Amino acid sequence: MKGPGEVRNVYVHAPFCARRCCYCDFAVEVNRRPDSAEWLAAIRTELDGVRGSGRVRLSSALESLYVGGGTPSVLDPRHVAELAAVVGRERTLAPGFEWTVEANPESFTGSVARRWAEGGVNRVSFGVQSFSSAALRWMGRLHSAEDAGEALKSARAAGISNLSVDLIFGLPASISRDWRNDLERVLDLEAPHISLYGLTVEKGTPLARAVGQERITPCGEARYREEYLLAAETLADAGYHHYEVSNFARPGFGSRHNTACWKGASYLGLGNGAHSYSGGRRWWNERGWAVYRDRVSRSGNGRAGSEVPTAQQTRLETIWLALRTRDGLQAAVPGSAALSVVRRWEARGLAELRNGAVRLTPEGWLVMDALTLELDGALQRHGSEGPPGPPAVSGPVDDGDPGEIFKYPGFCHGTM
Ligand code: SF4
Repeated sequence: MKGPGEVRNVYVHAPFCARRCCYCDFAVEVNRRPDSAEWLAAIRTELDGVRGSGRVRLSSALESLYVGGGTPSVLDPRHVAELAAVVGRERTLAPGFEWTVEANPESFTGSVARRWAEGGVNRVSFGVQSFSSAALRWMGRLHSAEDAGEALKSARAAGISNLSVDLIFGLPASISRDWRNDLERVLDLEAPHISLYGLTVEKGTPLARAVGQERITPCGEARYREEYLLAAETLADAGYHHYEVSNFARPGFGSRHNTACWKGASYLGLGNGAHSYSGGRRWWNERGWAVYRDRVSRSGNGRAGSEVPTAQQTRLETIWLALRTRDGLQAAVPGSAALSVVRRWEARGLAELRNGAVRLTPEGWLVMDALTLELDGALQRHGSEGPPGPPAVSGPVDDGDPGEIFKYPGFCHGTM
């Protein structure tokens, strides 16, 4: 076990949403007017506790601060802006420091934009999801297609130009959503970063109940695949770099926070349901807001569990994280069983081997979990070869079940 590592990337969870979307199983508390002073106090207390425990050494020059949710834009914007003081204003001054806050269009007003910008927020990620009124209604979203455009305008007017837009694909066919039209509309917004999320049916959600009662049929595999590939092609043609399985960016606009996590950097997560990774250990907080808040105020600690990944988990996660990105996996494959695996993938259009790195194509990303297991098996057969670098994933992993590593759709933050 390594000692406490220096952490340069911090995630803060803001769990409140005005309404729960039909598919959402994130750590969310439905509350239109949350007590944001109480939220900020809990984050401050937890951070003091973490630092006092010696588990983490916070860098004097943070690389990123990411406030996700939930819907951070329902909080009083003054309390969001005060997070800089909570982590230490001087830590947010390094060149290139990225401070992202997630927002939903209906609660992102001009005054929220100005407050955030004055506080130092320099990137906003919008949960837009679709431009179809029927689809937005079905999902339970509270904004209209027009609200999305207005929200981006407000951000730009406040001086924040590093903007990201989330879209969901793979909606049930019965919603009659026009995916091609949504891709055209998102390009009109000219956001330099776009994230795509495939809809999944998560246990316990209204969507899962509707599917269970056969009131709705989830999107089939063929259409899911078709929509993903159409997006990959459309966005690449429009000049976006498909730099990670779900993410597209104009040059220079990739998410620094997420990229650090994909590369295995340490990160500290604060707030309910947040995950952390440092010094070879990962831990996660109480998921429910009230349980977390009470626990932090009693003990200064919101932790629900922790673990040190096994060697097998470490190996698989290292491969999986690297394959997620366009930079791919640097692996010593020449002359090995792994080389013939990768050559087979190339022949099927799933990957390419360039400058010693295995890089998945969009077709390959659609089957990334299976490819990870296949490559790991081949590398193991060859013996000493193995991917370098430490791993980092965002959730608890059950020992001995390699398939389990892939069940966490969020990463070092819960998006949307
Ligand atoms: S999907 Fe986003 S906006 Fe909807 S309930 Fe979940 S966290 Fe809130």
